[in-house]
Amino acid sequence: IFDEYTIKSLIRPVPDFPKPGVVFRDITPLYQSPRAMRMVADSLIQRYVESPVTHIGAIDARGFLLGAVLAYELNKPLVLFRKAGKLPADTLSESYTSEYGECHIEVQRDALHGGEQVLLLDDLIATGGTFLAAARLIKQLGAEVYEAAAIIDLPDLGGSRRMQDADIPTFTLCAFE
Ligand code: IMP
Repeated sequence: IFDEYTIKSLIRPVPDFPKPGVVFRDITPLYQSPRAMRMVADSLIQRYVESPVTHIGAIDARGFLLGAVLAYELNKPLVLFRKAGKLPADTLSESYTSEYGECHIEVQRDALHGGEQVLLLDDLIATGGTFLAAARLIKQLGAEVYEAAAIIDLPDLGGSRRMQDADIPTFTLCAFE
């Protein structure tokens, strides 16, 4: 069973990383706990196992780890959304501004097609810029975001609100105010 207290206790606040004034939420202790990771994976599997999701979209880099587990368990194709310059062949790119500055995210053009329903995964929602840029790529390829899911929401940074305003269904397992 899912225990939010256990999950939150394994997310470590790191002040002034990666720059002064930012409290970074470090999820490596969570990834190091098999029991907690099983709770996270099982909650997500249970939520989507009977959904119409056709593809798992995983965001570079901590989203890849969740993406692999979900793609395996749900037996769906895994589509990688990567930082600029990492994906070979023909790609689409979107830029966005994060807490840390200007970023680019890319996907291969042949990875998705019209009518497909993507479950997008990342570890955390801050400003929502990453998820929103990935959602624009999905739309440009004619597919749809079924839901964007993350372990953590930081509601004070406004990302989940922005995603709601953009009509992107969003699901998170816990939040830090
Ligand atoms: P956003 O685009 O501003 O929502 O930032 C979310 C992206 O940045 C995700 O890919 C996260 O992995 C990363 N990120 C931003 N802040 C944190 C944090 O405090 N802890 C871990 N990852 C973060």
